Amino acid sequence: MQNPSPAKRLAHIKDRISEREAAAERSAGSVTLVTVSKTFAAEDIRPVIEAGQKVFGENRVQESQAKWPSLKDDFEDLELHLIGPLQSNKAKDAVALFDVIQTIDREKIARAVSDAARQLERSVRVFVQVNTGEEPQKAGISPAETHDFVNRCRNEHGLQVDGLMCIPPIDEEPALHFALLEKLGNAAGVSALSMGMSADFETAIDFGATHVRVGSAIFGARG
Ligand SMILES: *Cc1c(COP(=O)(O)O)cnc(C)c1O
Repeated sequence: MQNPSPAKRLAHIKDRISEREAAAERSAGSVTLVTVSKTFAAEDIRPVIEAGQKVFGENRVQESQAKWPSLKDDFEDLELHLIGPLQSNKAKDAVALFDVIQTIDREKIARAVSDAARQLERSVRVFVQVNTGEEPQKAGISPAETHDFVNRCRNEHGLQVDGLMCIPPIDEEPALHFALLEKLGNAAGVSALSMGMSADFETAIDFGATHVRVGSAIFGARG
């Protein structure tokens, strides 16, 4: 038998999300699936949109500029999330294309995104990326500084901070990091939590994820 199509896999992931929402006694529809389409071409993404998926995540601005403008022309109500690192010289391009930027990971980026939104007269929603594992090579605000940083994003930069986002260390139990992000989100007064990927999105739902970022379980392995 052939591999199931991405559209079939999408339906399966949506079922698993619904089941887990119910098992965790969370309301139906409280978890948004962000389908991660990085490295896949517009032709691969199109059938997934046609199957009803509206929310997508990409991790590179330039790659996204090559494929999303035409998809946005062809389909209404798409919501595009940037989930990869942003350089300040790409802030304007990112604000022009993305609806949500999940990777606000330092003061300079908060300022650049805020300036770009003002110049383009575009509203953009953001998440603050938290380096829950305090890994030196990984982007993100340290847990101890998260609350203050969220406040500065809101009060000094005028950003609409919807939530927090994390990418746990690959060699640690993700549940510990999801629990920490949930705690930090409550303390900072944000309502959304972006956590959980193909391998662990169900655990993330147990800890209050409102956005799960699922790529390979839908599109297959990246080349
Ligand atoms: C690629 C990526 C994902 C999706 O990972 P999968 O394991 O393919 O589901 C999620 N979040 C971020 C930040 C990513 O870069």
